Amino acid sequence: MAENFPFPTYFVLTIITITRLISTVGKTELTGPSLVPSNISHRLRDDPEAIKIASSDYGNLVRESPLAVFQPSSIYDIISLIKSSYTSSVPFHIAARGQGHSTRGQAMVPNGVVVDMSALRRQSLGFGIGSVFHDPSVGYYADVGGEQLWIDVLQATLRHGLAPPSWTDYLYLTVGGTLSNAGISGQTFRYGPQISNVHEMDVITGKGDFLTCSPEKNSELFHGVLGGLGQFGIIARARIALRPAPKRVKWVRVIYNDFSAFTKDQERLISISGEKKRDNDDDDNALDYLEGMLLMHQGPINNWRSSFFPSSDHPKIISLLVQHSILYCLEFAKYYDDHSEHSVDKELQEMVRGLSYVPGFYYEKNVSFMEFLNRVRSGELKLQSQGLWDVPHPWLNMFVPKSRIHDFDSGVFKDIILKRNITKGPVLVYPMNRSKWNDKMSASIPDEEVFYTVGFLHSSGFDDWKAFDVQNRDILRFCEEAGIKVKQYLPHYATQQEWTNHFGTKWMSFQERKYQFDPRMILSPGQRIFNNID
Ligand code: FAD
Repeated sequence: MAENFPFPTYFVLTIITITRLISTVGKTELTGPSLVPSNISHRLRDDPEAIKIASSDYGNLVRESPLAVFQPSSIYDIISLIKSSYTSSVPFHIAARGQGHSTRGQAMVPNGVVVDMSALRRQSLGFGIGSVFHDPSVGYYADVGGEQLWIDVLQATLRHGLAPPSWTDYLYLTVGGTLSNAGISGQTFRYGPQISNVHEMDVITGKGDFLTCSPEKNSELFHGVLGGLGQFGIIARARIALRPAPKRVKWVRVIYNDFSAFTKDQERLISISGEKKRDNDDDDNALDYLEGMLLMHQGPINNWRSSFFPSSDHPKIISLLVQHSILYCLEFAKYYDDHSEHSVDKELQEMVRGLSYVPGFYYEKNVSFMEFLNRVRSGELKLQSQGLWDVPHPWLNMFVPKSRIHDFDSGVFKDIILKRNITKGPVLVYPMNRSKWNDKMSASIPDEEVFYTVGFLHSSGFDDWKAFDVQNRDILRFCEEAGIKVKQYLPHYATQQEWTNHFGTKWMSFQERKYQFDPRMILSPGQRIFNNID
């Protein structure tokens, strides 16, 4: 809360002290009072290159310069850094920066210190990704450093024939970064978000305490940190649940011209439980992945998230689009293995038979598990080679209760989006089950059992991103005026009242956890929850 924020009065002193400290770094001599102990001060960088990287993110919308970037050689360095701020009369802000794949400066620290988690990764100095283990009470798991990328977790665990059950669409994100939000994708309806698949963590709190936490031990910290937007501590290690990994994936897209038919089918498919038909772990009648997206006449049929439709069919899809202006594409996948290879087609056919997509608009791919999970990477590399990756990304992600998704379709997709005619990037829309989330965790979701995630993943030029920002605000305003109780995902708010509304009944415990684990409001100020707001 703004009134509890202790920084402004003496923050100037901190700036002076750190600035002086950095200026002595090169000479490895520290004179006078310093906030950062000499054994770690040489890990601070203030050269233009380090500052530039830490001053921007994937969004390219916000620019905030830290005073220094801290490149730890171990988690003990991070403990020392946080302790030195916490015990100082002039604390300074600190945030972990995973990959900086936030879009609104959430990992930035104006006039403070950014902890470059990639330093631990590059030199294998953090927890890394060790071996996999088995415990009769929880099954298989891996202990993974918070700095690790999910792609590396996948590669390491696949070597043991195992993999985490829950993913994000894009794998070059850090474990600590996605667990600070939720980590969602097409597996969420079945396995819950990534935060539902963590057994234990080591966390360095805002007091510099290094604590192991789980649902049983230090449970307030455990639940607070998961979805906690970096507010309570830096995740040093997470114990991630693993399951036997399938070898291959049947990956299907079907196209609808009717939103009711599309959502009815999505909701039916996510209601099919993973009940085992046989005494075999992988062999069941549920899908493993389900998403959905809009196809609109102003955008390309394929996009960077994945190229799917054969070019020979583009004229046919475009003609359907011209007829309807907007189409809905349901995407789902069924994993299979050597032993289920013979039955997967039959199971898929049974499932597809009941769907109401436009006849003739069925597309299927048969890919390896790795190819499926890493499907966004090739699009990223292509955009990078065209210089189109490091552009502004005025994204808006939100959760919409099922009971209002049709109002959302008519008021947002068919009105704001179609009429404004500027949206070209992917627009995702798919449902998930609330029962797979843990309400004790910080992540805030709608109150209904089924809710949709809707993601407007815009890319824009440097001179026209504001039009998308205005559109995003208009979407949120429409929802508010129509009484649609949406929750932002990867949230970005401008006022204290909006954060209070966002967390709803969780706001009290969110605040209490902040006072308990980061009482001097040191961590992740770029989220703008307790700092510089209003
Ligand atoms: P950062 O952006 O660096 O950090 C995010 C926040 O977490 C900051 O507040 C930071 O201080 C804090 N933080 C970082 N590391 C730690 C740590 N170890 N401990 C505590 N706090 C920490 N999200 C999904 O859920 N599903 C998707 O499918 C998905 N797809 C994406 C695709 C792309 C191309 C991009 C760019 C993002 C996508 N995201 C998705 C969003 C992603 O989850 C967020 O950007 C998230 O913040 C992870 O990015 P990061 O690891 O770079 O974290």
